[in-house]
Amino acid sequence: MALPSLLPLRLQRSRRCQRCGLRYPRKAAQCPHCADLDEQGLAALRERVAEEHAGAAELGRFLGIAAAVIAAALLALALL
Ligand SMILES: [Zn+2]
Repeated sequence: MALPSLLPLRLQRSRRCQRCGLRYPRKAAQCPHCADLDEQGLAALRERVAEEHAGAAELGRFLGIAAAVIAAALLALALL
């Protein structure tokens, strides 16, 4: 689970890179994600980030369904 490592990063003072859209520390001179990438590397990075976002949305939907199933099961048990 990547959440614990994401949390401190969000609490840092950071800004969003105009080029790749990722966040990086405000005190950094340039974006560490895309500063050394050419246009092709940047396109690959953006694709990977979009896939990760899609994966997180998928996980959230799965957890929502799981919670609904558990709630329904508990309700069914309570009615027995
Ligand atoms: Zn960048």
